[in-house]
Amino acid sequence: MQVIVLGAGLAGLAAAVRAAREGAAVVLLESEAHVGGMVRSEQVGPWHLDHGPHRFWSRDPHVLALAREMMGADVVESERRSQILLMGQRFAYPLQPLDVARKLPAGVLVRGVRDWARERVRQRLHPDSDTDFEAWTVKRFGRTLYDVFFGPYTEKAWGAPCNTISADWAAQRISQSGLYDAVKSMLVPSLGAHQRSLAARFLYPKSGGIGSLAQGFARHLHQLGGRIELHTTVERVETRAGRVSAVSGCGPAGFFRYECDAVISTIPLPRLAQAVDPALGATARTAAEGLRHRAVRFAHVEVARPQVSPNHWIYLPERELEVHRVTEFKNFSAHGLPGDRTALCAEITCAQGDELWNLNDAHLHARVERDLVRAGLVQPGETTLLASTRLAHAYPFYDLGYKARVETTLKALKALTNLRSTGRQGLHRYNNMDHSIAMGWHAAKGLARLSPSAPVAQHERVGTEQVWFG
Ligand SMILES: Cc1cc2nc3c(=O)[nH]c(=O)nc-3n(C[C@H](O)[C@H](O)[C@H](O)COP(=O)(O)OP(=O)(O)OC[C@H]3O[C@@H](n4cnc5c(N)ncnc54)[C@H](O)[C@@H]3O)c2cc1C
Repeated sequence: MQVIVLGAGLAGLAAAVRAAREGAAVVLLESEAHVGGMVRSEQVGPWHLDHGPHRFWSRDPHVLALAREMMGADVVESERRSQILLMGQRFAYPLQPLDVARKLPAGVLVRGVRDWARERVRQRLHPDSDTDFEAWTVKRFGRTLYDVFFGPYTEKAWGAPCNTISADWAAQRISQSGLYDAVKSMLVPSLGAHQRSLAARFLYPKSGGIGSLAQGFARHLHQLGGRIELHTTVERVETRAGRVSAVSGCGPAGFFRYECDAVISTIPLPRLAQAVDPALGATARTAAEGLRHRAVRFAHVEVARPQVSPNHWIYLPERELEVHRVTEFKNFSAHGLPGDRTALCAEITCAQGDELWNLNDAHLHARVERDLVRAGLVQPGETTLLASTRLAHAYPFYDLGYKARVETTLKALKALTNLRSTGRQGLHRYNNMDHSIAMGWHAAKGLARLSPSAPVAQHERVGTEQVWFG
């Protein structure tokens, strides 16, 4: 039984390990020079630079145990520390009502509580429907808190007006996202207590950055006899009589073509839909082409002092700053790192191919340092650029029509009985690392035996529930 897995992020790695454990011959194809996808750590000097903050936790004990197995004994368990810099103040996160009451301008606080209470009454009498992100949040938090906390951060991160973003994003993520939870836990303290108990802890590799998690999966796959081919881009998924018969594309030695019994794809849904040959119907192709992503530029800088702050990361929601989050890696694990310097990662969202995406490193560094100075985190001239990285498919975009487009595309792909599309990219779902692992794991279940009763839909349900995790 030959199983081909497309994409070596956590979903693809987990799927490959599961299929190999079930006895399949597995080949994992990855277009980049490394495994891990988003979960990769680039080594520059003593630093292992992640794509922003990557903390691991799972409510699923099996996924947690699997991740621990892959990370080995080399793991640190920490309590999350983060802050929000807003209106010149540093708010502790998770927000503490007294801290907020002390730091938020009195007028804003009074208006916020008044609007929230007014909205609650209004919604009881004349409930609005959840048409989009703005409507969803105003309905639950009131206009003032939306204007302060939700609107600016969301528009900055997504580069789109909030009334063009699906309410699904709010429903799936507001309970999980630091900034938003903070407000919610302030207003409904019982929810805040629950959230804190689950979201505070996380696991992180003691050394090697979060990429060590992916490396652990890759090592395990090799031990099981699985093969990983890097620099190998899948371009064509050949189908015959309702099944995938072969996968082909471009590898280090040029053209490649592998015949197969089954395929698990974790590459972006639009890419998979485009690769199917003969082509999917026009409706499915149009739907897939309409799916969009938000990209991120990451600037990693070294700062010539022992520590910038004790936080794992800091949110910068202010509109006038391009950077929206800053991570300090040393605070995740200081093992083997120099005592006199620290390294930060600044994130700026953008669109693939736009001005920011193409900005050269020197200009990116200048703009990032300007923001870090304005935010009061560093002094001018205090940072040195270590590396800049990009993620083109960082965030699946939840615009108003995304759900129907995902469903149409997946429906057409499901007609191919030995193909499963899963993971963050394969389901176009804004999820966490543990979800991707679970998706890959479930998608590979029973595949090696080609069981007709294999629970195909199980992997699609992962990450749709409301979880307190950010
Ligand atoms: C900035 C940021 C911070 C995050 N923080 C956290 C956090 O704190 N905690 C948490 O749990 N999660 C976090 N996440 C989410 C987490 O990173 C993802 O959910 C997870 O890594 C996705 O894994 P995946 O395998 O599904 O997708 P990916 O990692 O995107 O893997 C897909 C792979 O497919 C490959 N590929 C694409 N096209 C082709 C092709 N044609 N041929 C071959 N290969 C191809 C890609 O190169 C990639 O390696 C964060 C995400 C981001 C962007």
